[in-house]
Amino acid sequence: MNQIDGLPPLRDVIERHGLSALKSLGQNFLLDLNLTSRIARSAGSLEGHTVVEIGPGPGGLTRALLANGAAKVIAVERDRRAIAALAEIQAHYPGRLEVIEGDALAIDTAALGEQPLRIVANLPYNIATPLLIGWLSPATWPPRWSSMSLMFQKEVADRITATEEDDAYGRLGVLVGWRCRATQMFDISPKAFVPPPKVTSTVVHFEPRQEPLPCRLATLEAVTAAAFGQRRKMLRQSLKPLGFDPAALCAAADLDPTVRAETVPVAGFVRLANALDALRGQ
Ligand code: SAM
Repeated sequence: MNQIDGLPPLRDVIERHGLSALKSLGQNFLLDLNLTSRIARSAGSLEGHTVVEIGPGPGGLTRALLANGAAKVIAVERDRRAIAALAEIQAHYPGRLEVIEGDALAIDTAALGEQPLRIVANLPYNIATPLLIGWLSPATWPPRWSSMSLMFQKEVADRITATEEDDAYGRLGVLVGWRCRATQMFDISPKAFVPPPKVTSTVVHFEPRQEPLPCRLATLEAVTAAAFGQRRKMLRQSLKPLGFDPAALCAAADLDPTVRAETVPVAGFVRLANALDALRGQ
């Protein structure tokens, strides 16, 4: 194996630390450090940056982040078995790797570390979407992080980067498109993982928009939940749960009430959210 740092091969680390993959923790490990380096490089320059990584596991991506120049990596891992394996990396890069043992969903991970901050992770697939929504939902924007490079199942990546021209367009695509520019970087075959998952994975790169169209996040979520809750129905029907006359809402938002949610661009949903707030007197 082509090593990047003189540390033992990941297969050896996994064996010595008894890191047999647990399905319950969404564990599919990457053992090829050339591949994890490619993911690390896709984040942009890491020099002078703190990187928050969720789920380092045996440390394949962690090592690549450090070898590619991250000033510091703060890694949050739930599996106690991985902590000893990560200690070997800490010893190799003194002061540059902080490991937090805990549940990433219970920690404000975007509040960790110094800026400039990037988030880079091969996410556990079972909590990938809630983690992403958390990073997209801080009260103030732009967020503390300057980019995120995250791996998802391809089907989820398609929903994240979808626009109104794509079949996968929905609530997630609107939220992401409102606050970020999100780009699919490359796919990773199931064969690259141990154990191999059933589906292809995709690395998605996110950059926050500095000035997203103004609207309230909670209202945007309310209108997209209604509109996509009945995605095959026209807006004049699907917006009824919002409690106001859908025709009046659409008129105020300059939208045709006979179109369906899947054809409305992000800017249309923002107008709809602002129209709803105006009707509510907010
Ligand atoms: N980064 C490693 C790699 O690329 O080989 C492992 C990635 S594996 C897909 C996901 C990792 O997330 C596992 O190490 C798993 O233990 C960890 N994990 C699962 N649920 C977690 C949670 N709630 N909080 C923190 N880490 C979690």
